[in-house]
Amino acid sequence: MERIKTLIIGSGPAGYTAAIYAARADLKPVLYTGMEPGGQLTTTTEVDNFPGYPEGIDGPTMMVQLQQQAERFGTQVRIGMINKVKFATEKGGIHKAFVEGGAALEAETVIISTGATARYLGLPSEQRLRGGGVSACAVCDGFFYKGQEVAIVGGGDTAAEEATYLAKICSKVTMLVRKDQMRASKAMQHRVNNTSNIDLRYNTEIDEVLGDQVVEGLRMRNNQTGALEEISITGLFIAIGHQPNTEIFKGQLDMDDAGYLITKGKSTATNLPGVFASGDVQDKEYRQAVTAAGTGCMAALDAERYLQEIED
Ligand code: NDP
Repeated sequence: MERIKTLIIGSGPAGYTAAIYAARADLKPVLYTGMEPGGQLTTTTEVDNFPGYPEGIDGPTMMVQLQQQAERFGTQVRIGMINKVKFATEKGGIHKAFVEGGAALEAETVIISTGATARYLGLPSEQRLRGGGVSACAVCDGFFYKGQEVAIVGGGDTAAEEATYLAKICSKVTMLVRKDQMRASKAMQHRVNNTSNIDLRYNTEIDEVLGDQVVEGLRMRNNQTGALEEISITGLFIAIGHQPNTEIFKGQLDMDDAGYLITKGKSTATNLPGVFASGDVQDKEYRQAVTAAGTGCMAALDAERYLQEIED
C-alpha cells in the first residue's frame, strides 16, 4: 500500500493552502480533490474580498492558481474522492484512506478540508439560475446588486446577518421566512426588524424564481392563505444552512450537532492524533475563503509539528 507523510482531503482554499505549506515543509503532500475540484469558490463568479487581488478575480481562476502554487512546491494533486477512512487512535499510528475506485493509501498525518455544501431549495427555476442571480453567499456576491432590489430566503442567523448586510448595499431586501417566526437569535431579529429597507415576510415561500437567463423576479406564496404575489428582483440569496461534508468521518471524529468537526482550542487538532481539520468543515461562523486559507496554513504547521514530535 502507498505510504505518505501527509494526505490532504479537499481542494478549496483550505486544502490548497495546507498543501502549499506542507509541500514547502517537505511533507510531500498528496491532495485528493473530491467531487468538486476547487470547492465552493468554483461556483461563484467574481471574488473581490480575497486580499491581494486589487481588481478581483473569478473563483475558478483563483482556484486554478492556488492549485498551481501548491503543485509548484511538489504537491501531488489527484482528481478523486476519498470515500472511507480508518484513522489510527494512538500517537504515531498510521491512518488509512480508501479512494473511490479501489486504491488505498496510508498516511502519517491527514488534513481534512472537505468543506461544507450550501443547501438550496431544490426548485428547478432556482437551480437553473444559479450563477445567473441566485447565490448562496451574500458576502461574496451582494456587491454585484448595489442599489438594486433583492430577496433572501431563510430565518436563521445566517439569513438575518446576510439580510442586514445586503440592506446596506441594496435598495430593498425582501426576506422570506417559511414559519411565523425566525430561528435567528433575538439580537439578530432585532437588527432585521430595525432595518427600514428589509421587507420581512413570514409564512412565505418561493413558488418560482422568474427569469430566463438571469433573475428578474420572484413569485412568492403565503403558505397560510395560498395567496401568490410577484415581485421584481435581480438577485436571490439562499441562506437556509450549510451541510458540512463529514459523513465519512462519523463515529471516528468528534463533531457538533450539525456535523461540523470539533478542533481543540486555537489549533486544528481533532480528537485523534495526527488528524487535523481546516476550512469550512470546522467553521460555521466565518466561512470565508481567506479564513479557510488561514486555517489550512495552521493545519499544515500543526501536522509538521506533530511529525517532528514523533521523530524526537
Ligand atoms: P440554520 O439551520 O440555523 O437556519 C436555517 C434557516 O433556513 C431556518 O430559518 C430554516 O427554517 C430555514 N430553512 C431551512 N430549509 C428551508 C427551506 N427548504 N425553505 C425555506 N426555509 C428553510 O442555519 P444558519 O446557516 O442560519 O446557521 C447555522 C449555524 O451557524 C447556527 O447555529 C447559527 O446560530 C450559526 N451562525 C451564527 C452566526 C453568528 O452568531 N454571528 C452567524 C451565522 C450563523 P425553519 O426555522 O423553519 O426550520
